[in-house]
Amino acid sequence: MSNNGLRPVIRIIKENCVSCHRCIMACPVKMCNNGVGDVVEFNSDLCIGCGECIHACSHNARIGIDDFDTFLQALKAGTKIVAIVAPAIAASFGGDYLKVNGFLKKLGVKALFDVSFGAELTVKSYLAYRHKKHPPLIISQPCPTLVTFIEMYRPELIPYLAPADSPMMHTMKMIKKYYPQYASHKIAAISPCYSKRREFDAVGIGDYNVTFKSIQDYLDRTKDRISQYESLPYDNPPAERAVLFSTPGGLMRTIERYDRDVASYTRKIEGSPEVYDYLARLGKTMQNKKTPMYSLVDCLNCRMGCNGGPATTARGKHIDELEESVEKRSVTARAHYGNTKGYKRPLGKGKLEKLLNDYWEEGLYDRSYTDRSAIFKRLVKFPSRQEIQGLFLKMYKKGPKDILDCGSCGYVNCEQMAVAIINGLNKPENCRHFIEIQKKMINEQHKQEIEHTITTVYGHTLDEMHKSIEGIGSLSSNINETAVSVQNSSTAVEQMVQNIRSIYENLEHNAQTVLKLNASSVEGKNRISEIGGLIAEVAIQSDALIEACKVIGDIADETSVLGMNAAIEAAHAGDAIGKGFAVVAGEIRKLATNSGHQAEEIAKSLNNIKALIDNSTKSSLQAQEQFDLIVSLVDSVKNEEGTIKNAVETQNNGSQQVIQAMHDVNGLIAKIKNESAALLVSGNAVIEHIQSLKQTL
Ligand code: SF4
Ligand code: SF4
Ligand code: SF4
Repeated sequence: MSNNGLRPVIRIIKENCVSCHRCIMACPVKMCNNGVGDVVEFNSDLCIGCGECIHACSHNARIGIDDFDTFLQALKAGTKIVAIVAPAIAASFGGDYLKVNGFLKKLGVKALFDVSFGAELTVKSYLAYRHKKHPPLIISQPCPTLVTFIEMYRPELIPYLAPADSPMMHTMKMIKKYYPQYASHKIAAISPCYSKRREFDAVGIGDYNVTFKSIQDYLDRTKDRISQYESLPYDNPPAERAVLFSTPGGLMRTIERYDRDVASYTRKIEGSPEVYDYLARLGKTMQNKKTPMYSLVDCLNCRMGCNGGPATTARGKHIDELEESVEKRSVTARAHYGNTKGYKRPLGKGKLEKLLNDYWEEGLYDRSYTDRSAIFKRLVKFPSRQEIQGLFLKMYKKGPKDILDCGSCGYVNCEQMAVAIINGLNKPENCRHFIEIQKKMINEQHKQEIEHTITTVYGHTLDEMHKSIEGIGSLSSNINETAVSVQNSSTAVEQMVQNIRSIYENLEHNAQTVLKLNASSVEGKNRISEIGGLIAEVAIQSDALIEACKVIGDIADETSVLGMNAAIEAAHAGDAIGKGFAVVAGEIRKLATNSGHQAEEIAKSLNNIKALIDNSTKSSLQAQEQFDLIVSLVDSVKNEEGTIKNAVETQNNGSQQVIQAMHDVNGLIAKIKNESAALLVSGNAVIEHIQSLKQTL
């Protein structure tokens, strides 16, 4: 609750504010805003809760506060709640407005009451007051924003506020008095307006202000649609044409039922700033004790009445679209009471009148108001003309031409802005004129600085520029020479690389040959080794044969000795026997002699062969040694070749990199060449510009 007994109904989301000051422009009371900082803040003590800044702010930095969340929590906690529904419901929910009742019932609301019937009771209270007291002026008070405005900013009008409750308060008091079963229930007002909550605080009845917008936001959040719910009637009697109360002039059109001439003494006015200007002038009229032109003021804060209230879903809708459902409803409501063709009845007659009498009682719906102007007077001081003039001078406002009254700061005119600045609610930097003058001064200062710079440039830099241009010219020709020599080097390196490549290819070829040679040498070595093995075997066998020949020789010698002995014996044996025996012995000796000879010959041959074999063995061993030498030589050739190949390969790769680098250098040189040429051109252009700049001074 604020110092003024008024709870905040608007809040600011600072991070969204871009300090555009549209909220100040839209605000009918201005001084509740503070534009000194980077965001426009506001003082709830001075805010009348009109919600104009919510509509004006396209950055969603101002939003309304209602009781939707606590209402939901209370229902979930089992709190017994009845709801009263404002007539503007038909504008926000169209033909589905009775389905809102279904939605509320589903949430757990116990009963539903139509505030339009409360509006009928309100009209009855107004007319009763008018007939009884004959006041010079009655200002209607269904709009809590306008009531707060009068209480805080136009207290001189408080005596003229209708001393009767609003339709919502009539409905709430009616429930308490005539519906005892709900007398202890909490009451939620389903409303199009954030400032309604302040009325509950002022009167002391009403527990939750639940706005249409919050209901729609909830449905959107839960991906629900109102059309899904059941249409449910209200629990109180239906209204007649007071269903029009949410539309501008609704009060007047309801009174018309009783008084055809109501328009002749009624001022219908709504919307900011018109209604506020009107009330300001009306205050002066009443202070001056003049008779007002109209004795009844049917006024609302919002341009489209409560149908387009700040907490409705009406934003962006056309006024006809908003009023269509309300008008249709009024036709049905009139038909219910038999008033089909705008038929007017005298007060106190008919079915509706009987009903109203049942729910009305003198004094029950009386309302009083509080003068809240002290806090405004305390917080906002009205400076003297001198103070304003003094501030104007600080804002470079030296004459009438400087008082633009353009409204860019958000205030109605320069004087109002001056009042805000003197009260610490704004700053000169937010004045368009101030900014323009400062801009000019800064421009003048910059101009002088620029002139000074140009003169310096002309005097000192031009020479330097010429020198630079010359330098760039000679750099250009040096670059050309460098480009030629780099090109030549590049060609030579490429040739060298070509040679290295062919050496590499030859080495590659040699490597293949060496590999083959190596394979052949190893093969030869293996073969020689095999032959050596065979020769050794033959030598062993030759040794065995020589040994066999010796045995044969020894046998032949023994045989010869035996043959000799036989011949001797044959000589002893006589001619007959000995002769034959001697022949045999002789033959044996011959045979033995021949065998011995043969064995000798064979042994000789074998010894010769053995000598040859030994020679072969020696030769094959030597050949084997030679092959070993060849293989090791081939190996070292192979290794050397590999080393050379690697070296050549490394050199080849390195050379490729050298070529790439040379190419890069070539590209770079070409680029430098182009850029130095462009530099030459732009340097000359700079000189021309400096010269022409100097001429313009
Ligand atoms: S309208 Fe006001 S609150 Fe919104 S961005 Fe502009 S200055 Fe900030
Ligand atoms: S709600 Fe109305 S009075 Fe309050 S700051 Fe916004 S525009 Fe001003
Ligand atoms: S000239 Fe400055 S102070 Fe005057 S209305 Fe324009 S912006 Fe506001």
